[in-house]
Amino acid sequence: PTAILWFRNDLRLDDNPALQAALRAGLTPVPVYIHAPGEEGDWAPGAASDAWRQRSLRALDADLRGRGSRLRLFTGTSSEVLHELVAATGAEAVFWNRRYEPAVEERDTRIKRALRTLGVRAESFNGSLLFEPWQLETKTGDPYRVFTPFWRTALKQWRLQATAPAPEALPSCDAAPAGVALEALGLAPRPDWDTGFWMQWTPGEAGAHAALQQFTQRALRDYGSARDRPDMQGTSRMSPHLHFGEIPPWRIVHALDDAAGPGDDRDAFVRELGWREFAHHVLHHFPHTPERNFNPRFDDFKWRDLSADALHAWQRGRTGVPIVDAGLRELWSTGWMHNRVRMVVASFLTKHLRAHWSHGARWFWDTLVDADLANNTLGWQWVAGTGVDAAPYFRVFNPVLQAQRFDPEGRYIARWVPELAALPASLRHAPWQDPDASRRAAKDYPSRPMVDLAAGRAAAIEAYAGVK
Ligand code: FAD
Repeated sequence: PTAILWFRNDLRLDDNPALQAALRAGLTPVPVYIHAPGEEGDWAPGAASDAWRQRSLRALDADLRGRGSRLRLFTGTSSEVLHELVAATGAEAVFWNRRYEPAVEERDTRIKRALRTLGVRAESFNGSLLFEPWQLETKTGDPYRVFTPFWRTALKQWRLQATAPAPEALPSCDAAPAGVALEALGLAPRPDWDTGFWMQWTPGEAGAHAALQQFTQRALRDYGSARDRPDMQGTSRMSPHLHFGEIPPWRIVHALDDAAGPGDDRDAFVRELGWREFAHHVLHHFPHTPERNFNPRFDDFKWRDLSADALHAWQRGRTGVPIVDAGLRELWSTGWMHNRVRMVVASFLTKHLRAHWSHGARWFWDTLVDADLANNTLGWQWVAGTGVDAAPYFRVFNPVLQAQRFDPEGRYIARWVPELAALPASLRHAPWQDPDASRRAAKDYPSRPMVDLAAGRAAAIEAYAGVK
């Protein structure tokens, strides 16, 4: 007897609850992946995500083959493909690990119901969160809208899932249709603009564990102080691995506990995982937030219509504000941006330029390898001040002060904006203050920011005060 094992954003064999369920039930798992981007509503995966997924699927297939099984790939409508597979293999069950994007949740519920009507055992599992999004609630039974009390409750109810190692061998199932080749999914970038990515990243389960090991050995000890420094390797860079489910968060926490034991840096890191949990909680309870303001008072806010040129200057790191440009160029070249800089570039777009946050959210969606509907929506609405636990309206990041504080020698700026590397460190944060006029003119870099920083800040505060 067989079970269809439907892989989605859980591209791993270690600690995989759906796989464990099949094995526990004594069923031969038939691992499948269905490429159906049209089923994700307005949020079909972006180009950087596709590039990652292609490699992660290849790694998963290799891991399965090493154990005697293989991954079967399909395109088309998920429900139809699953029904055909059940018919072809006589599968008793279809197992998968849950996803929480609104369109995907809806689709999965429909599929589960239809399979059960046919007498197939359809079951989903939690493969990616410490807490299910509906598990924690306020005393009055409402969802949380503020992180701190959410996390306090989470810590009170803390019960870490046990780990379940990958099986050493898996039975194969010859009855299942072969599926299509990986190339047929069309995930690989054309032309191959992504070559720079893979110097930094190794998609797949082994890459996730290697990144975790590197973090626990090198950076965890100073995480609390270094996590805000884009000029250092102070964070884990686990975000794409977490998004694609190449490792679950509880496995990360177990590793931290083994490596470090209790301590401030461990707690600071787990708290960031808590933001990920909170983002999924918010997306589940407020499924309209990827498209609309969480706070309806912003629905009439006068965002400015940015010209295509201005938006392009922001996207490609030509705003004339060095820390902003460095971040956007890091994103373009590597598919990732440091969290502190994500906040700075988002604040610049939504406050100094007063463009609607959705312009930024869409750009991140297409370019981030860790693009995640829950985390991205929360991040953008938080910075824009329209979301849950929003930054106060008068909080406008000053990009020069942020750069001076978190990239004090301008090393991060020099790396991503090489036009400024020859300047003394003190001028890299604000090159328009260079007293040497000929040096200012000689650089292939905007001679001043695309918006006057003080005037942009004042105009933003005035506009935001109107919705207070
Ligand atoms: P670490 O500091 O090592 O943190 C560990 C893990 O905790 C991360 O991998 C991530 O899963 C989680 N985490 C950390 N910070 C946050 C946070 N603020 N919100 C939610 N989860 C968090 N993160 C994404 O994974 N996908 C996104 O699409 C995304 N978009 C963002 C957009 C904006 C405007 C902002 C301000 C933040 C966004 N973030 C997003 C959150 C955060 O910037 C990244 O998770 C983090 O930079 C990833 O790097 P890391 O793995 O080294 O983080």
